[in-house]
Amino acid sequence: MSTIHFEIVTPEKVVLKEEVLQLTVPTKMGEITILPHHIPLVASLIPGVIEVKKTNNELETVALSGGFIEVLPTKVVILADTAERAADIDEARAEEARQRAEKLMTEKREEVDFSAVQAKIAKELARVKAVRRHRNRHIIKTD
Ligand code: ATP
Repeated sequence: MSTIHFEIVTPEKVVLKEEVLQLTVPTKMGEITILPHHIPLVASLIPGVIEVKKTNNELETVALSGGFIEVLPTKVVILADTAERAADIDEARAEEARQRAEKLMTEKREEVDFSAVQAKIAKELARVKAVRRHRNRHIIKTD
């Protein structure tokens, strides 16, 4: 069975490091799925959900705020600004942070950095989406 050596790294920690069957990541051009022996590639990633199919066919869901993916012949690495496994995400915290940011957007105060607030909203939405997908996760049956 062919696998991919896959790592997700943030400035704070290694979020994931394991052999996987495939992974799907959000890029500016849409989602891309990487299978073993994919051609080398570098792409920038947008806020969203990374889905990883593990060797036991289980799906791992990770929230990503943005970063880069590097596909090399021997491994695939994501350098993330922030990334959390769905199981580690506090959904209420993400939802509250999203609502605070949405409120700031509507207040239209001059001192507010709107692009930063927009980025915050996208980051928190990715966390909420990851938790929800994780909740609905299923084991893919191969037979
Ligand atoms: P908040 O607005 O909720 O206070 P924050 O702006 O401090 O969040 P970030 O800067 O995005 O959060 O992240 C800071 C650290 O907290 C990172 O390590 C991130 O992984 C973690 N983190 C942030 N939000 C959550 C969450 N909802 N669940 C789990 N970890 C989180």
